[in-house]
Amino acid sequence: MSLASPYISKTEFLNYLTCPGYAWHLRHHGDARPSPDEGALRRMREGHHVESLARDLFPGGYLVTSRNPARADRETRAAMAAGYTVIFQATALAEAGMIARADVLVRAGEAWHLIEVKSSSADPEKPRDVVRKHLNDITFQSIAFHNAGIPVQQLSLLVLNRTYRRNGSVDARDLFVRFDVTEDVRAAELLVLPIIEDAIATLLNSRVAAKCDCHRKTRTNRCELFSHFHPHIPERNTIYNIGSIQRTSLLPALDRGVLMMVDWPDDIPLGARQRRQVEVARNGVEVAHREKIAAFVQQFAEPLWYLDYETFQSPVPLWEGYAPHQQITFQYSLHRIGSDGESSHYEYLAESSVHDPTESLLRQLAEDMGSEGSVLVWNKSFEFGRNTEMAERYPHYAEFLHDVNSRMIDLADAVKHGWWEHPDFQGSWSLKQVLPVAAPEMNYKLLDIGDGGTASERWMQAVLDSPCLLSDTERSAVLRALRIYCTQDTLAMVRIRDYMLGLLA
Ligand code: SF4
Repeated sequence: MSLASPYISKTEFLNYLTCPGYAWHLRHHGDARPSPDEGALRRMREGHHVESLARDLFPGGYLVTSRNPARADRETRAAMAAGYTVIFQATALAEAGMIARADVLVRAGEAWHLIEVKSSSADPEKPRDVVRKHLNDITFQSIAFHNAGIPVQQLSLLVLNRTYRRNGSVDARDLFVRFDVTEDVRAAELLVLPIIEDAIATLLNSRVAAKCDCHRKTRTNRCELFSHFHPHIPERNTIYNIGSIQRTSLLPALDRGVLMMVDWPDDIPLGARQRRQVEVARNGVEVAHREKIAAFVQQFAEPLWYLDYETFQSPVPLWEGYAPHQQITFQYSLHRIGSDGESSHYEYLAESSVHDPTESLLRQLAEDMGSEGSVLVWNKSFEFGRNTEMAERYPHYAEFLHDVNSRMIDLADAVKHGWWEHPDFQGSWSLKQVLPVAAPEMNYKLLDIGDGGTASERWMQAVLDSPCLLSDTERSAVLRALRIYCTQDTLAMVRIRDYMLGLLA
C-alpha cells in the first residue's frame, strides 16, 4: 500500500489491534522496518500454496490479478458483471477508508458468500478457537464489502483439518474444513465497527506520531520497534530482565524511576527466585545451591547420552500419515560420555526429501544409543514430545522411544529451579543464555547457523525445495553448518554438566 493511500488494509487493522503505535509506524515509516527474514518469506509462500490448493474446491473461478487497489476493485466488479460465480482475490474499496481482498467470493443468489482461507488448523468438532482467532479479520472483510456496496450474506472460514492424515496425493476436499461464521460475524460487527473507525482515523493521520507504551509492560509485549522508541533502555540487567516479572510488580518500581535490577526497591514484593536473582545481580557473582545440584547430578546414570533434535513443520503434509503442521524430526546429535570420561559422537542428518526421514533416523538412533544410561536434553518437553509422536507413527520403534523417554532428564532443570544462578542468565534458562557462562568460547553467534529456526529454514532450502536454488557448494556448506550447529547443542550440554560438577568441587 502506498503511503498516500486513503485506505487501510485488513493487515493494517490487525496490526492496529495488536498495537496502534506499531501499525502507525509501519504505515508512515515502514521503509525503516527490517526486511522479512527467510522464515517469514517461507510462511508467506506456504500461505500462498495453501490458498492455491483451496482454489481447487471452486473450479472455474476468476482470479483478480491487479495489485493496484483501484484497478483490482474495477476488475472485481467487471468479473461480477460478466457473470462469474466464483472470484478469487475479489477486491473492494470502501469509501469509509478500507480496502479488503477476499480469498474467495461465491455468488449466492443476489448476494455473495465470502470465504477466507487460513493456514491455521482446527479440529472439525472444535472450531471455537480458530473462529475466535480470525473473527476480527473476517469481520473487517464483511464490513468493508458491505461499505463498498457488495452484499455478503454468508461468511466462512476455510482452514486445514487437524484430523487429516495424508494418504496419497493431497485432496483439497479432505485437507480443508469449512466453518460457517456468519452469525459470529454479525454479532461482532457492532463491536468491531467503531474500532475500525478509530483505526482509520489514527492510521490515516500522518501528523499524530505513534506512541509506544511497552516501557510500562513486561518484555513479552515488545515488538522489534522497542529500541527505536526507547533507545536509552538497555537490553540487559534491567528490571524487565527479572525472570517472570509481572506488570503489577514492574509498575511501582518504574513509578519510582527505577530501571536497573540492582536498584530494585526492597519494599516492593518479589517472588523468592526473583529476589535471589536481584541479589545475584547486586553481588555480581553466581550462586550454586550445592546440595540441590549434587542431588540432581547424582541421579544421572552412566553412560550419559546427550540428545538434541532439529525439526521442521509444513502446513500441507509432505509425506504419508502426517497431519498439517506436524513437527518432523530431520536431524539429531548424540554425545555419549562413558564412565571413564571417554566421549563419542553420533549424528543423523536427512539429506534427501524423497521419503519421510523419520524411519531411517530412528533406525540409526536405535543403533547409536545404548539401552543403559540417562538421556540428557535441554527443555525436555520438546524431545519427549517428538519421541511420543514418532512412537505413534512407527510402532515398531515405540518400545525403544518410550524407554528413551523414561531415561530422559532435563539438564535445564538446574537453572529453571534456581539451583544454579548467574547474573548473566538474565532471568532466562535458554541454552544460548546459559552456555556463555559455562563455555564462553562456544559462541553461537560465530556459527553460520546459530538457532533452531534458522536450522529448520536452511534445511528446507537445501533439502526440501524443488528445484533447490542453492549451488552444490552452497548446499554442502548448509549441510555442514547444520551438523556443526546440532553438534554444538549437545556439546554445550556436556560442557554445562562439567561446569556444574565444577561448582561442587
Ligand atoms: S514495543 Fe510495544 S507499544 Fe511499542 S510499538 Fe512495539 S508493540 Fe507497540
